[in-house]
Amino acid sequence: MNDPQTPGGEHLGFADLGLREELLRSLTALGYEDPTPIQRQAIPHLLEGADLLGQAATGTGKTAAFALPVINGIDADAPGEPVALVIVPTRELAVQVSEAVFKYGREQHIKVLPIYGGQPIVRQLKALSRGVHVVVATPGRAIDHIHRGSLSLDSIRTVILDEADEMLDMGFTEDIETILRSTPTDRQTVMFSATIPPRITAIAKRHQRNPVNIHIGAGEVSEATALIRQTVYFVDRFHKPSALGRVLDIEAPTAALVFCRTRTEVDELTVTMSGRGYRAEALHGGMDQAQRDRVMGRLRDGTAELLIATDVAARGLDVDTLTHVVNYEVPSAPESYVHRIGRVGRAGRSGVAITLAEPRRRRLLSNIERLTRQTITVEKVPSVADLRARQIEVTVAAVREALSDGDLNDYNPVLHGLAGDGSDRDIALAAIKLYHEARGATVDNVEIPDASTRGHKPRDRDRDRSRAPNKGLGKSPRPASQPGTGSVFVSLGKRAGIRPGDLVGAIANETDLSGRDIGPIRISDNFSVVGVPEASVDTVVAALQATTVRGKKTRARRFVD
Ligand code: AMP
Repeated sequence: MNDPQTPGGEHLGFADLGLREELLRSLTALGYEDPTPIQRQAIPHLLEGADLLGQAATGTGKTAAFALPVINGIDADAPGEPVALVIVPTRELAVQVSEAVFKYGREQHIKVLPIYGGQPIVRQLKALSRGVHVVVATPGRAIDHIHRGSLSLDSIRTVILDEADEMLDMGFTEDIETILRSTPTDRQTVMFSATIPPRITAIAKRHQRNPVNIHIGAGEVSEATALIRQTVYFVDRFHKPSALGRVLDIEAPTAALVFCRTRTEVDELTVTMSGRGYRAEALHGGMDQAQRDRVMGRLRDGTAELLIATDVAARGLDVDTLTHVVNYEVPSAPESYVHRIGRVGRAGRSGVAITLAEPRRRRLLSNIERLTRQTITVEKVPSVADLRARQIEVTVAAVREALSDGDLNDYNPVLHGLAGDGSDRDIALAAIKLYHEARGATVDNVEIPDASTRGHKPRDRDRDRSRAPNKGLGKSPRPASQPGTGSVFVSLGKRAGIRPGDLVGAIANETDLSGRDIGPIRISDNFSVVGVPEASVDTVVAALQATTVRGKKTRARRFVD
């Protein structure tokens, strides 16, 4: 996002990528100012109809990278048979991608339908028979509909495999092969994957024609970030505004630059932080030069303490007083991270870079660590007690400074006026209370849940990553058995050809658990035992009874050791 140049040097915005007007309007309405690197690189090729193999993790903007070209090619005729099929590993992602397609295609009245296990099939059958433009499906449910004849693939022009490596890990290889073989041979095939192991390359070889290869993540890193203290706080989206407030209270920046992804987010966060008593100003691409200069002036002279900005708006921004850079979201490319945090730590000064991340962005952070070869320390969001302790420290420091100032005699008349109302100690405490409260040391009683232990994936590549010099990001795959883990007995084992991926795939496809919630898995000759969160045991049992694993009916029940 901060590196919007082509090799030729010109700046490429959304309007230069060849997208139609309705889409550009939708993007402006969403507050997207500039394409992310994967969008800039992928969209022109996809618009030309090329096949593509893209290495990109979640958070890079990959959904829009494949969704925009698909929507671009759809005319707003009444929907009939689907023209695009997106295959995703989980139901959460199916819903997320459908929402994205809906948002981007709003002006064109694009009809998109998510189909996944766990949802009544009748509803999906009805929706399919009414006609849709785009189907977003998990592999198992897609196969189910293909077999029933309810999902016709004859009109499919584009197939997209999203998070392809994840799908292979979950045991969906055969399903994916079947789906690809069931679509027209002259289709466009697009694959996005966070890693490109040989199995992905093999699928690409079999099913793609001269794919364009795109890799997001490599690039030059400056040494400038070495002096910057880099921390990350894992928090859920919902808690981000309070987490930001609390971290800023503890850090007490002189001036901080807070980066958001969209203009809309900038406006919303500015209102929220102002409401919480921060002197916050917004800076985004929609402002003219005079407005920008005014805002910058307020940050420089200390009138404002927070500048909340998009990448585009902050381009070229240079403020000497800046002590902190905050990523309100993990940036979509490691290069953006480096550019952003490089705003502090200039001319050999130290600085602080803070990132607020949802647990699912862990992989994107690991990429950044690999690229910068620097550690981003995982910190816990300050607790109510931490906050109180810090507020007391600040008040103590302020009173101590006033004691050494020497102009205290001016206030003798106040003390005389209070004679007889309490001891000097009580009067001092009352005065401190007034100061403490007036400073806005608000009483914030609600603890923010720590999300730093969530989002680990129990897979080999993440374990490899944990060897990086890193205090926590790629660390701690799920232990053998955790408190709160229950077990499910499944009546299929090695003899039935069952592998861990089959069980993970079946469960993730039929329930709202994701791969990382599932395990440990023990497969014996005639049965298997799968660990799942205790609270989900009954749901998993019901889901497994109602579905097939590797095409076989199975019995399932709670397992007690
Ligand atoms: P993804 O990698 O597709 O999961 O996207 C990550 C997030 O980035 C989503 O919340 C998108 O809405 C957002 N996003 C995608 N493209 C852009 C863009 N060009 N500008 C701002 N935000 C974007």
